[in-house]
Formats: sequence, structure tokens, C-alpha cells
Amino acid sequence: MRVLIIEDDENIVESLSLSLRMRWPDVDISSAGMGEEGLQLVETFSPDIVVLDLGLPDINGFEVLRQVRMFSDVPIIILSVLGDEDDIVRGLEMDADDYIVKPFKKMEFLARVKSLVRRKNIPVDLTVYERGNFRVFLSLHHLYYNENKVTLTKSECLIFYKLIQNANTVVTYSSIARELWGDEYPGSIEAIRVYVQRLRRKIEEITGHSDFIETKSNMGYTFNLQE
Ligand code: CA
Repeated sequence: MRVLIIEDDENIVESLSLSLRMRWPDVDISSAGMGEEGLQLVETFSPDIVVLDLGLPDINGFEVLRQVRMFSDVPIIILSVLGDEDDIVRGLEMDADDYIVKPFKKMEFLARVKSLVRRKNIPVDLTVYERGNFRVFLSLHHLYYNENKVTLTKSECLIFYKLIQNANTVVTYSSIARELWGDEYPGSIEAIRVYVQRLRRKIEEITGHSDFIETKSNMGYTFNLQE
């Protein structure tokens, strides 16, 4: 496995590298402290996963993200600073696959990497799941309600699929965390809330209703579907 870390803080690069090596002794790691250099490495090093800091000294992380997406669909985890929720949303909308908020726990970082490696191994196909008036294309992340369409991020798509498959029953936070990351970790509930908030907005966009996903306090969510 090849991991590219684009981050100007050397301490963070070192701690990320250390965590990766402890979990995957054979991992091949490359790093760049500048955005331009990082962009070149995406091409020349052809990583399996990119960890991308949003605050870089030359060009910002969003610009790196935008340019990478012009030629590569490599899984990208963005590193954001605490309190910058807008940055996270913007990053996910620009097709980052996942995010982590600094400072983060080693376990949390590894869980995210693990989940992206796992997802990468799912074969791309055109599997469609239909229920009620919803239709979701699992590998394209397209969600339809009748003829109205919205594009989800991979994480939103996984959550939607999990919820609608189990419609009208409670889906717990921990089962969602396992679906996304293969594991639970401190802070996973917060992350799930961010995803669900966006997912709700997207569902409302195509259905005109905001009450499909109901929060069950301290437990998780229920997808309400009349069949
Ligand atoms: Ca930085």
C-alpha cells in the first residue's frame, strides 16, 4: 500500500507515518510539505490513499483537491482544523472521501484509512437498490426520488443505503460507524452527525421533505418509509 501525505507540519507527518507503519509494516509512504509538490507526487508516486492538509504554504488544500480530481479518483482524506465545519463540507463536496479534524487520535486516523482501503476493494459495478420511490446507484452514488436526482458522497451513500435497507427500524450509531470505518472510535458520532445533516439536506432537495431521517436520541437514526 502506498500512502501520500501532503502536510507542511513535520510533526504531523511523522506521527501519521509512525501510526501507518505500526499498523501496516510494509506501507510505502511519501510526503510533501507543499501543494504543488504533492500534486506532482499524486502522478509520479501513484498512491493508493492521499492524506491532504487543507492549510498549505503555497496553494491551499482545496486547490490541490480540485486539481487532483481532474485526473485521479484516488481516495483522499482531508485534514481540517477544529471548528472549521464549513471546510469539511466544502471538501466533501469537492469529492474528498473522508476527513479528520486535528488534533486526532491515532486510532481514528487508522480507522479511516482502513475503511478507504476496504472500499477500494469493492468492485465497481452498477448495482442499484430500489425501495419506495428511492433508487440508489451504489457505485456512482446517485440517488433518485422518482425522477429527481442528487449526487451523494461515498460516505453519504453508504449511510443512506444502511438506513433505507433497515427502513422503519433504529439504525444505531455504532452500526453506521462499522459500515463506514469498520470500527468505532472516539468522535465517530460527531462525524456521523455531519454526514447525516448533509444527507438530510440532499434528500430534502429531491423529495421536498426533511423528515425521512429521524434522529433517535442517543441511539441513532430511523429512516421513515411508508410502504
Ligand atoms: Ca498546515
